[in-house]
Amino acid sequence: MQIARGLLCWVCSDLHGLRNASHAHWNPNMTSPIQLISTDFDGTIFAEFENPPIPQRFVSLIGDLQTRGAKWVINTGRDMSSLMEALARSKISIQPDYLVLVEREIYQHDGVRYAPLAEWNAACNRDHAELFKRVQTEVGGLIDWVNARFRATVYADPYSPFCLIAGNNGDADLIHARLDEFCLRFPELTVVRNDVYARFSHVAYNKGTALAELTRRLRITSAQVFAAGDHLNDLPMLKREFARYLATPANAIESVKAVVRQQQGFVSQFSQGAGVAEGLEFHLRQP
Ligand SMILES: [Mg+2]
Repeated sequence: MQIARGLLCWVCSDLHGLRNASHAHWNPNMTSPIQLISTDFDGTIFAEFENPPIPQRFVSLIGDLQTRGAKWVINTGRDMSSLMEALARSKISIQPDYLVLVEREIYQHDGVRYAPLAEWNAACNRDHAELFKRVQTEVGGLIDWVNARFRATVYADPYSPFCLIAGNNGDADLIHARLDEFCLRFPELTVVRNDVYARFSHVAYNKGTALAELTRRLRITSAQVFAAGDHLNDLPMLKREFARYLATPANAIESVKAVVRQQQGFVSQFSQGAGVAEGLEFHLRQP
């Protein structure tokens, strides 16, 4: 491959042609083999108490990939206002092309703002409303069961008739098992769990199916998709079915690392954004 001199390599941060290359360098004009990058937010690229919370190494790499035609989606459990606030605080120089919010709604940046993908979001809202209407009458008993046994915060919000903030992960595991049992009675109902947080969702809408919808809309295949996450709510997208390239940072929970490893994904030695950047670099330098 012809290598231009004096250009910073987006894979290894080396200068092209100035040192011995231990890996294939991409021509800076070349289209990236990865066309869609799906990253979870909290614990995956964003570290609340780090400065900066999203590392420059990650920002530079995503920026380079975007100039080569790749699209970046933040695939998160946060809602719009919460994500926008955290992104603004991060002061990053790039912006995601797409957002998947509350693990299920899709938004696309139209040059001015993030606009909903109307068809997907309408179907998502309709299916959840129909399901939650059926579940609603049973939720009271579930709330009583939790409150009788645990110190936990249980509430309803516009996204789920049952939301949980457990006191610790041990309690969350026990409550999660009870919620799974509850879901057996409603085949379309599932639990979305992230650390001590949990809520209900429709099985057809999660980080994985939302990523598949974006892949379909971009007219690419899962062979051109990268996905990275750190916790249980990321498992639906951490599948080769949806993303050929998988990665997880060092701070990910063990079960996520195991799933990524089993599918020949990359488990980084670095935490959060630096770990995801290392995962992207790893996949990009594969022949
Ligand atoms: Mg996370």
